[in-house]
Amino acid sequence: MLETEKQRTLFKYKSGLDFALEQDHNDTLKLYRNQFHIPKDADGNELIYMTGNSLGLQPKQTKAYINQELDDWAKLGVEGHTEAKNPWLPYHEFLTKSMANVVGAKPIEVIVMNTLTANLHLMMVSFYQPTKSRYKILIENDAFPSDKYAVESQLRHHGFDDKNGLILWKPRKGEELLRYDDLEAILEEQGDEIALIMIGGVNYYTGQFFDLKYITNLGHKYGCKVGFDCAHGAGNVDLQLHDSGADFAVWCTYKYLNSGPGSLGGCFVHERHANNKNLNRFTGWWSHNKQTRFKMRDEFDQLPGAEGWQLSNPPILSMAAIKASLDLFNEVGIEKLIAKSKKLTGYFEYLLNQLGHDKIRIITPKSEAARGCQLSIQVMNADKKLHDKLTESGVISDWREPDVIRCAPTPFYNSFEDVYHLVEKIKFIINE
Ligand SMILES: *Cc1c(COP(=O)(O)O)cnc(C)c1O
Repeated sequence: MLETEKQRTLFKYKSGLDFALEQDHNDTLKLYRNQFHIPKDADGNELIYMTGNSLGLQPKQTKAYINQELDDWAKLGVEGHTEAKNPWLPYHEFLTKSMANVVGAKPIEVIVMNTLTANLHLMMVSFYQPTKSRYKILIENDAFPSDKYAVESQLRHHGFDDKNGLILWKPRKGEELLRYDDLEAILEEQGDEIALIMIGGVNYYTGQFFDLKYITNLGHKYGCKVGFDCAHGAGNVDLQLHDSGADFAVWCTYKYLNSGPGSLGGCFVHERHANNKNLNRFTGWWSHNKQTRFKMRDEFDQLPGAEGWQLSNPPILSMAAIKASLDLFNEVGIEKLIAKSKKLTGYFEYLLNQLGHDKIRIITPKSEAARGCQLSIQVMNADKKLHDKLTESGVISDWREPDVIRCAPTPFYNSFEDVYHLVEKIKFIINE
């Protein structure tokens, strides 16, 4: 499914607005921009929105999807659980297949539930089962803070020291990206002490997209469980979670999946664990067999698959927003989005390189297979003024300490023209 490097080199970029307009004209997905609300400035001009990696934009159809549930609730009250147009009892099932397609999984492996960090903890209840000799957790050096806090608290919860128990996969001195050789060296040395490897599938800071299958195979070879936080991967890159063989993965739906602030998370549990009733887990009535759930019996009957990790009956309004977005993903297909994304980000990289300015440097991998749509631009001397001026000039991007501007042109609603103007603004500001 991935475009090969050969295809990539065949695609020639050019500078100049004409080229951007021509690309937009030929873009088969161009009309989808109109399906999203694009934020505007005080004068009503559209801003250049580059933060779909942080909070995706609102699809115009989301309101109707939520209103449908509000109306059915008003009309039907509790009967909506079975009588609503989209009955609430099985509502999460309406999301499963589309979500599984987005992350490259089988439906039985995927569930939309809770929020991201909560799901990460639930997954660790099952897949972080430390012993006296094998208790360490390996994460990437620049892991998202919430992930780091979560694994540290799991170590403490099991009575281990969170400094000694946490192993960081670090970049080499003077580098930003992580090397697989270094991961292999860590495992060779401490593999039999590591209970869990938990990596951000796409690193939030550098935008490096890791080889999930390679990491999983390596971890399994040493007897470790392997999980990924795909918050920056879902809806952005070709995750192929099933084929990766990972034990579990978690992600959120408010970044590239455009489902609204604080919306529910997604969770993947590999099929080989689907019927394992001996795995440790926390349960609730929504983990119980659907057929007998409302008999309210004493004996617990575990649901198979990822659904069996649910606890509560879920928030339908939030799920309606997820359905609105996933219906768009279904309509287009993640493959087409990724194909456009590669061109768009390649174009962005090309234009930045054309600037040939030593004030900025892209730290994201050059290889298409090792990144998604985000480019992380390191600013020399950590000069935050560049970002401030970009913001003043109508760009929404984000500054990450110590010295990086992250820009993520997303294929659903960003255009080549957006990218062209963005780089023109950067050029103007750094040459001032
Ligand atoms: C966005 C993000 C989070 C946020 O977690 P929530 O529980 O949704 O607040 C955590 N981890 C990663 C890697 C993220 O990108």
